[in-house]
Amino acid sequence: MLMGETLYKAARHVRYAALAGLGAVGGFTSIAASAWRRRRLLILCYHGVSLEDEHEWNRDLFVTPAFLRRRFEILRDCGYVVLPLGESVRRLQRGTLPPRSVVLTFDDGFHDFFAAAVPLLEEFGYPAMNYMSTYYAVHQLPLAVITLRYVLWRARLRVLGPGVLPGQDGPVDLQDLQQREKLTATLLNQAQVLSGGREAQQALLGEVATRLGVEWDNIMRRRLFHLMNAGEVADIARRGFDVQLHTHRHRTPREKSLFCQEVLENRRILEGMTGRPATHFCYPSGDVDPVFLPWLRELKVETATTGFSGLARAAHDPLLLPRYVDTMAKSEVVFESWLSGAGAILRGARGNAR
Ligand SMILES: [Zn+2]
Repeated sequence: MLMGETLYKAARHVRYAALAGLGAVGGFTSIAASAWRRRRLLILCYHGVSLEDEHEWNRDLFVTPAFLRRRFEILRDCGYVVLPLGESVRRLQRGTLPPRSVVLTFDDGFHDFFAAAVPLLEEFGYPAMNYMSTYYAVHQLPLAVITLRYVLWRARLRVLGPGVLPGQDGPVDLQDLQQREKLTATLLNQAQVLSGGREAQQALLGEVATRLGVEWDNIMRRRLFHLMNAGEVADIARRGFDVQLHTHRHRTPREKSLFCQEVLENRRILEGMTGRPATHFCYPSGDVDPVFLPWLRELKVETATTGFSGLARAAHDPLLLPRYVDTMAKSEVVFESWLSGAGAILRGARGNAR
């Protein structure tokens, strides 16, 4: 498939050149100010904000505070209007959006939203939505899978002889991503994390980090992979931030009663923390299935955001709102093209971006 790959790369290059050219001649500004853009809403999606070097490990999941600040400066300097999600979707449907409307959303409820994103959002006066799963918020343990992957990445310069880690039979070169992933799966099985043994999981993570010489105390103290606790959620809700539904355990079962249980438990806990109704939803891992829609309607969910790339229009089902997932891999030209709407026009086809 060499030819196919070459063509794909060439197409990407042409698109990038087209975007850069359009930006240079002020094309973004005229599209951003158009009646076409005014009938559309751009919902941006972020996940974690690095407290240390998490973005070096996973650039799809983490951005630095400096990167986020620069994005906010672009929003401010180019005249974009950042609105709360609920209000913006109502105004989209009524046709009363201001020009250049944008919404900021953050997924998963990481502690770093409280520690690193909120101060920046307040400095710029921007509202934001956090979609939060509650299982790890209630139990206040680091998210097992990503913590384990991060710990193995931190030790990536090492080649392990057999038996350094529990259940590890052969040698493992930690620089090799495939070998790291295999080891992650072995270790998770070891502690039966997937069946929910919380204490075993916690003990395993600490033991792996210690045996690899990674500073476990620091990861725990700074809560790099913890979700916000009840006090932090209550605090940001008081300060005007929205904390909304993402299922209790970040799962989307196909069985109606299980799915509804996930949403209702998530809602019960969030409403207890924020004192506000939880009626906005985000599909965990971008897992959208048409069977969910009547269930969400029955649960009186007003809006649901997806990982489909695009700008939202009044014609969209409010339970299938597209977003734009912004990461450190996206250049400023590409970011500005999406703000203006040009990025969506040039991209054309709708794609799934988690
Ligand atoms: Zn998520």
